[in-house]
Amino acid sequence: MPLLELKSVSVGYGRNPVLQNVDLTLERGEIVTLLGANGAGKSTLVKSISGLLRPEAGSILLDGESIETLAPAERLRRGIAHVPEGRQIFAGMTVAENLELGAYASSEADHAERLEFVCTLFPILRERMRDIAGNFSGGQQQMLAIARGLMSKPKILLLDEPSLGIAPLLVSEIFRLIVDLRAQGITILLAEQNARQALSIADRGYVFENGKIMLSGASRDLLNSREIAERYLGMGSATEVSGAASAALAGKLRTVLFPASTATDQG
Ligand code: ATP
Repeated sequence: MPLLELKSVSVGYGRNPVLQNVDLTLERGEIVTLLGANGAGKSTLVKSISGLLRPEAGSILLDGESIETLAPAERLRRGIAHVPEGRQIFAGMTVAENLELGAYASSEADHAERLEFVCTLFPILRERMRDIAGNFSGGQQQMLAIARGLMSKPKILLLDEPSLGIAPLLVSEIFRLIVDLRAQGITILLAEQNARQALSIADRGYVFENGKIMLSGASRDLLNSREIAERYLGMGSATEVSGAASAALAGKLRTVLFPASTATDQG
């Protein structure tokens, strides 16, 4: 049984449908990445898993149990932590207070152990517990946001665009950290526009376009498989069947997978 399973989930805002009939699974100990350009529906999917949005149709199963009607706090208690896009730390509060808020659904007994766990992962937090979080750099705030998510001892960590607006060196550090978290047994769903880096650490990926899964599979297949590229996008045959159609399809794959690099990297 998968740890998390979405079956035919549809979500919208008012009358505006966004996700349509999404099927997705997370197996224990995986990093799964959600890819797609701006507005493809990645954040909407993440929010519907953490409970900030309610699906209009479909079901979400955690360990085989339906959770789609549960409140966000109850989903957190059951092991789903959400690190939102844009970090959303409490800028006027100290590091310690931000971390405490992340643990609000856990018992006092767990608190000290969790604090030790996140301080071992992010030694800088230990040194700066009393500092005001808003004075941190973007990368440090992202680390604090991840640490806050980890305070609830999650089974599943939902990470929404952790690389957004962060210096490249720190992005690599955050991606390394995500791999470490998987080694600690945490299952990770990573929504990212930075597809190349996300696929380099993920086990599997789903590519979204306009609220639908356009293709999915093992990360190395998404990056390399000629068969998948040919079947879904015609890209693999672009070298043999020259012409506008195959070039357009190859371009489309690049746009979906590597939106940030299309302007400079046409290879
Ligand atoms: P981004 O990286 O920009 O967040 P995304 O893939 O996460 O992109 P979503 O934020 O899930 O995309 O947005 C999917 C669609 O839902 C977009 O068309 C967006 O305009 C719309 N949308 C998102 N939030 C709302 C909202 N609060 N009200 C109405 N429409 C929304």
